[in-house]
Amino acid sequence: MRLYNTASRRKEIFTPQNIKQVTMYCCGPTVYNFAHIGNLRTYIFEDLLARTIRLQYPLKHVMNVTDVGHLVSDADDGEDKMEVGAAREGKSAWDIAKFYEAKFWQDYDSLHCTRPNVVCHATDHIAEMIALVKTLEEKGFTYRTSDGIYYDTSKFPRYDALVGHARISGLQEGARVEKSDEKRNPTDFALWKFSPKDKKRQMEWDSPWGVGFPGWHIECSSMAMKYLGHTLDIHCGGVDHITIHHTNEVAQSEAATGQKYVNYWVHGEFLILRSGKMSKSGGTFVTVDVLKEKGYEPLVYRYLCLGAHYRTQLEFSYESMDTATKSLANLRKLACACAEQAGQTVQETEKSRAWKDKFTAAMQDDLNAPKALAVTWEVVRSDELTAAEKVDFLRFADTILAIDLFKQPTQDKVEIPADVAALLQQRKEARSAKNWAKSDELRNAILAAGYVVKDTPQGQEITKK
Ligand code: AMP
Ligand code: ZN
Repeated sequence: MRLYNTASRRKEIFTPQNIKQVTMYCCGPTVYNFAHIGNLRTYIFEDLLARTIRLQYPLKHVMNVTDVGHLVSDADDGEDKMEVGAAREGKSAWDIAKFYEAKFWQDYDSLHCTRPNVVCHATDHIAEMIALVKTLEEKGFTYRTSDGIYYDTSKFPRYDALVGHARISGLQEGARVEKSDEKRNPTDFALWKFSPKDKKRQMEWDSPWGVGFPGWHIECSSMAMKYLGHTLDIHCGGVDHITIHHTNEVAQSEAATGQKYVNYWVHGEFLILRSGKMSKSGGTFVTVDVLKEKGYEPLVYRYLCLGAHYRTQLEFSYESMDTATKSLANLRKLACACAEQAGQTVQETEKSRAWKDKFTAAMQDDLNAPKALAVTWEVVRSDELTAAEKVDFLRFADTILAIDLFKQPTQDKVEIPADVAALLQQRKEARSAKNWAKSDELRNAILAAGYVVKDTPQGQEITKK
């Protein structure tokens, strides 16, 4: 398998440390609000990666749930997102976390993302985080300010390795350091924040430095290394995490262990709206529930994501959802027809094996899902393969695509106006009377009204033009 590594900025052959268990850590949701479909695009890409790795190796997939410490601002000030959610809804921060996490898994499952082997919550790992900060303190990487314990990025020479020097120096020059800011360097970040003196936080813990809560970055380092060891094979997330969150994870983990933290950094590009960024805080976000309310099956969204490579931006629109709905329905129709024709005779042949290999090669080439999907279409349309061979291929392809290829397409939920329904009824009668001329005339009238009628063994089928 080849994977694009953000750290080297090129595609590399993927070589795990131990072929008996590949290790992968994915940054999980901050559970203070619904996940939007942009967040879920990232989880779909990570799921494709997990499924593709499992074709070759056993995988240990770990994901955290950020239920404390993710501040509204990346500059280590502003409120904790969990406490913002609690104030917004008049619930406790703990209840907010519970509610939105449950909702997250519902959405995650509805998109057929495979559950990680380990799901770990920040609030259950405070002791590990304190231990990691202590190690950093002992090694001289920390300093104290009036609001917390900070990491001194000037002590870690490779600080800009992940993101590239130009972008970090841009960040340094661009950062406005307020007079009151006690940070030594603009890129320094909080490892442990003290609870404010004038306000009681809902989530806070004792520590050797004072009552407070952990920084967001230390969460991921602590939990990733607890479950996967000092060096992970793969660490994933969205591209927005490269400059700060993941850069800081590298700095604190490598400073603490003296070992390389991650061998392959794999980042997914954003889902965007024509009007710009989809963001939770900006309120411009679409959720799986919104899609369902509009009549879309969640897997249509998965299909849409499969059509764009994970390293390219994908612009979301309802027009593209409509196109994806039709394509998925057509693909399923063809798959179901093959299954009906093949009956019980399905087994692998040299030909079906060759197409499976072609599909696998696409996925193993830096997760080229659009190509794998194109291979799938080629197979269903091919004259060279028998129905049984196609089914053998499709069963395999669906272990990766996970779009329910053999689901009987439900009759498209077409709202038929009364006049069109009357024409349909007349046409049915004309056909029973074998009046083909009248039947064709009515077909044209239905078409003129904006609907396409098809004759199937089950009777007339109607779709929108
Ligand atoms: P959060 O819940 O905000 O911590 O984000 C969860 C995941 O979604 C992270 O891996 C982010 O990088 C990713 N993410 C955030 N916004 C988008 C977006 N618009 N498109 C794709 N991924 C995103
Ligand atoms: Zn993280």
